[in-house]
Amino acid sequence: MNDCIFCKIIAGEIPSKKLYEDELCLAFYDIQPLAPQHFLVIPKEHLTGANKIDANNAAVVGHIFAVIAKLTAQLNFSDGYRVVTNCGEDAGQTVKHLHFHVLGGKQLGSFN
Ligand code: 5GP
Ligand code: ZN
Repeated sequence: MNDCIFCKIIAGEIPSKKLYEDELCLAFYDIQPLAPQHFLVIPKEHLTGANKIDANNAAVVGHIFAVIAKLTAQLNFSDGYRVVTNCGEDAGQTVKHLHFHVLGGKQLGSFN
């Protein structure tokens, strides 16, 4: 966990372009945007990925989706956006701290 870059971003040890923060989560812009709008929302609790969501920690996921709805409205793209979480090697997860990509600001292509 000490080597986790997203935990370091939460701790302020690595700078980020912060959008929103509360006691449960942090939202910040992705360093390599894949769309005109691309930010990440992460729980402050270190969970390695979506496969670690269980009955004890699931409430933060609903909270994060509510935060996403609020932020996309503030940024004026709440009419169309995509939320993605990559879980594990096969999905190409590179940072092993649960995170939700929020993508928008253009017509998004289909994916597989
Ligand atoms: P994944 O590939 O794990 O689903 O997504 C990880 C995302 O984190 C990538 O889109 C990558 O650009 C982003 N990322 C990696 N390191 C940093 C960083 O230090 N700062 C920010 N803002 N984003 C990062
Ligand atoms: Zn972490």
